[in-house]
Amino acid sequence: MSGESITAQNLRQVLISVAQKIIEQESYLNSLDAAVGDGDHGITMRLGFQAIIRKLGELDPQIPMDIMLREVGTAFMGATGGAIGVILGRALIAAGNALQGSSEMGATEFRHVLGAMEVAIATAGKAKPGDKTILDAVHGANRIGRVALPNLD
Ligand SMILES: [Mg+2]
Repeated sequence: MSGESITAQNLRQVLISVAQKIIEQESYLNSLDAAVGDGDHGITMRLGFQAIIRKLGELDPQIPMDIMLREVGTAFMGATGGAIGVILGRALIAAGNALQGSSEMGATEFRHVLGAMEVAIATAGKAKPGDKTILDAVHGANRIGRVALPNLD
């Protein structure tokens, strides 16, 4: 593999950092949800990401990244109700499955992860690109990956 890649230790740090950022934004996410729904999205995301941090603390520090992602996906799903728990949980599990046996994640593996997450989100959420859902972000990242990064590996 050429270029940059991240290890399971790096991935653990990324997950914790993302989780902390999401947890900090609980009130903001609730306010966004209140405009169109029942105003609990921040609570749901906090519960899910707290479960991810808790799970990462329980897991063996040497755990491979594929198992790590499946474990945190399962933890997220178990801690949250509603559609987003299933959608993000399945997306994380799909990311783990896409990394089966990989000790590092470089550009190639990351494209596999994004592709697997897009399929998982589209399937779990019954969404299509352009429906103004979380799928649009992953689909956009996939599209950029295909268009702009074709020769990284
Ligand atoms: Mg809600």
